[in-house]
Amino acid sequence: MTQSALVLFSGGQDSTTCLAWALSHYQHVETIGFDYGQRHAVELSLRPKLFASLRTLYPQWAAKLGEDHMIDLSLLGTISDTALTRDTAISMQKNGLPNTFVPGRNLLFITTAAALAYRRGITVIVGGMCETDFSGYPDCRNESLRALETAINLGMATNMEIATPLMWLDKAQSWKLAEDLGGNALVELIRTDTHTCYLGERGTLHEWGHGCGTCPACALRARGYLEYVKNK
Ligand code: ZN
Repeated sequence: MTQSALVLFSGGQDSTTCLAWALSHYQHVETIGFDYGQRHAVELSLRPKLFASLRTLYPQWAAKLGEDHMIDLSLLGTISDTALTRDTAISMQKNGLPNTFVPGRNLLFITTAAALAYRRGITVIVGGMCETDFSGYPDCRNESLRALETAINLGMATNMEIATPLMWLDKAQSWKLAEDLGGNALVELIRTDTHTCYLGERGTLHEWGHGCGTCPACALRARGYLEYVKNK
């Protein structure tokens, strides 16, 4: 356990689970967040509270949790026309992808993270991408990420790893992973203090967390949580 890791941390369920995973697996962990003009920018505002809670609940992790880097990627909001970056209704497109797909988002995120990791001497980038229970986003596929890893290592003459601990887990298994990593306290922190809803809705606290309850992101989160509870 000597490596350092940089976690793509948005303040959502998946990235918070990834942060806990990285804190259990690496000696030193830094975080990176992206502001790209997302409609659900509320998730970014939850990050400081999540850091504080993790530090309080898990002193063994507090010692490992290093710098947080907030990066302005507003250019992504400028060049893309999607339901996550514009006030447009969520719908299915002709190409079979929902219009919540932001083309190039994960590619840009990870390439940016790799450039920062290079500067910080970090060799592992951790992301919550998953192709088991997902919206069909092609940049969440393992194949895309392995190709990107190769491109980064060729282009930067490095030996970086893109670690994706959630890749083969469904949403119920992601909740279980959180429980295994940090017990019920971590599940409860993720349930109440992380954000998933595409519409940025935080009003009501449902059994599975805050959100509108009807957008695809809320539906996926709710289904996974209820299944996790059922299997408990
Ligand atoms: Zn929602």
